[in-house]
Amino acid sequence: MARRFELHYHTSESSSCARISARDSIPLYKAYGYDGIVVTDHLNPRRFEIRYGPAVAADPSLMEECWQRYIDVVRYGRQVAEEAGKRIGVTVLQGGEVNLKNYPNDFLVYGQVEPFFRSHPGLVYYSPEQFCQAAHEAGLFISHAHPFRHDCQPLENVYLDAMEVFNGSYGHLAVAHNDLAMQYALDHDLIPTVGSDFHKVPDLPRACVQFIDDIRTPDELVNALRARRFELLICPFKKA
Ligand SMILES: [Zn+2]
Ligand SMILES: [Zn+2]
Repeated sequence: MARRFELHYHTSESSSCARISARDSIPLYKAYGYDGIVVTDHLNPRRFEIRYGPAVAADPSLMEECWQRYIDVVRYGRQVAEEAGKRIGVTVLQGGEVNLKNYPNDFLVYGQVEPFFRSHPGLVYYSPEQFCQAAHEAGLFISHAHPFRHDCQPLENVYLDAMEVFNGSYGHLAVAHNDLAMQYALDHDLIPTVGSDFHKVPDLPRACVQFIDDIRTPDELVNALRARRFELLICPFKKA
């Protein structure tokens, strides 16, 4: 049974802000009693531009090719995590954390994320409205990450499915204002999600979504989130 999931997790393979590789962190999750992880490595305009900005500025027709290469970088952490998870029985699913150009917020996305990224070159230049509409057309589930962190602002919930009501990042605990996020989700009838926002060992294990049913695929994950067939666990585990 794969029921206890991390929904906010980064790898140093694909997120330059993360301090530990998937190869090393997946066994830690196993030790803390998680059954599954959704890899939500960052997709953002700054990192795209560092790698490919000059090439695309010089020749905009290169966007498609550069974008596909960028998605290869973004998905690499998930591939490593999948291999590590297979060895020890941890289910690994695709997800993402998307930031848009000139926009402060981060969107956690769940579902068939990689095909969506690949079929939308230059996605990080979309407006929030365009992004959320396209993601919903692709059947994705969107949760607003750490919505009350000092550099974010809650978005009109018409675009959202969910709100991350507890962000467990050790570096964010003082500034995430999780209490405000929970109240906002309740007031606006948004589905609550939680995540450790794992970048380094002290972030673990602070949050877990415990599903009622066995979750094996991105579609099963989205369906269970939409149906609210889960409980939220915060700082739940002792190391086995
Ligand atoms: Zn990060
Ligand atoms: Zn994150």
